[in-house]
Amino acid sequence: MSNIIYPTTNLKVTETLTIERGDGAYVYDSEGNQYLEGLAGLWCTSLGYNNRELIDTTAEQMGKLSYSHMFGGKTHQVGIDLSEKLTAMVPVENAKVFFGNSGSDANDTHVKMLRYYFNAIGKPEKFKIIARERSYHGVTVASASLTGLPPNHTNFDLPFNALGVLRTDAPHYFHGALPGETEEQFVDRIVNNLEQLILKEGADTIAAFIAEPITGASGVIVPPKGYYQKVQAILNKYDILFWADEVITGFGRTGNDFGCTTMGIESPALMTLAKQLSSAYMPISASVIRGDIYEAMIEPSAKVGVFGHGYTYSGHPVAAAVALKTLEIYERDNIFGHAATLGEYMQKRLHEFEDHPLVGEVRGEGMIGAVEMVSDKRSGAGFEGGAVGTFAMQSCQKHGMITRAVAGNSLAFCPPLIVTEAQVDEMIEKLGKALDETLDFVTREGLI
Ligand code: PMP
Repeated sequence: MSNIIYPTTNLKVTETLTIERGDGAYVYDSEGNQYLEGLAGLWCTSLGYNNRELIDTTAEQMGKLSYSHMFGGKTHQVGIDLSEKLTAMVPVENAKVFFGNSGSDANDTHVKMLRYYFNAIGKPEKFKIIARERSYHGVTVASASLTGLPPNHTNFDLPFNALGVLRTDAPHYFHGALPGETEEQFVDRIVNNLEQLILKEGADTIAAFIAEPITGASGVIVPPKGYYQKVQAILNKYDILFWADEVITGFGRTGNDFGCTTMGIESPALMTLAKQLSSAYMPISASVIRGDIYEAMIEPSAKVGVFGHGYTYSGHPVAAAVALKTLEIYERDNIFGHAATLGEYMQKRLHEFEDHPLVGEVRGEGMIGAVEMVSDKRSGAGFEGGAVGTFAMQSCQKHGMITRAVAGNSLAFCPPLIVTEAQVDEMIEKLGKALDETLDFVTREGLI
């Protein structure tokens, strides 16, 4: 079984799947079996596999400058070009960007920049961060503390208390609503809970509110209409910054350029980007902040002599070149437009499973979705543990499609943005077979 400690895996690893190569929307295992990549790897391979332009860009940049750092003002043209293209795209005012390697480290960077900023403007007590239940922001000590999923905390002694993470409700109507509560009443109740939390803690102690516009790893939660408008009104009232974690939702995934656009979130102060920034051909992330936040950080940095934060690979030239090319391809080939059109089709087709006896809810927006399996369709009661989700995921795999079971028993879908309508149909056909097999399984096991 090799000497690998597998990430996000039961360490009693019993089964592995050796993926050998990829092409377009498909990957192939070591025995030559083909799989449609229903989750774009880990929500990241937007342009699919074996993209010749990205491969050539990588090789060219490696030949030209394989490494250079950005400490002490060293820079390179491809990093500058990427920063300009990226900051022109994002809905953040006068955006400035800090480059990292992963979504997790980009969120850690934001945690530190928030502290740096509030120290700089003489408000050192304003450092707490409101994060939501059922959120996923990464696994480093700080980002895992922001994450609201128990498996990422248990046995790690997280969240790390000194960080000052405050927890508020997930906007998950399907699981969070009280009996008889309408969506609007649900939103009003959880937004009121948010306000009460702010009042209890004191707005002067709270720096920011972090949210994935639509969550991924926790089951693709699409908040009800009006949620973000009401949240933003509260945050503005108490002078708390909105921090959008767009690691999954960035770059055309939800039917628009960013999840913020889809969900009506106006000019976030901070934005975290990774994954589709480079179509996962190279690891790179971006911590984007509003220009005035950056301006305030300059003076203390000058006083100390340095802004003491940076990774060896911040602005790695090869990753920067690949990210820049990725953004150029998005624009040139109208990838977001294609994803918006096909996203509508994918949602329509996924929603056909609403009538399936095993399906409690179909959720999604654009090219991200989830199908939740439940034991009681009427009440929405779920299955204990994650065995049903795992069975369904393996059944998809057997039929030649890769997906992931998230939040227990939801199957997530997030194919490369370049998929065709026929490939969406293929995904739906395979999902149909897997759901039927899973229904047989739960019936046989007496789980339903
Ligand atoms: N934020 C969000 C919203 C994510 O979905 C993820 C990863 N799935 C992360 C942060 C962490 O990114 P990484 O795995 O690159 O550290």
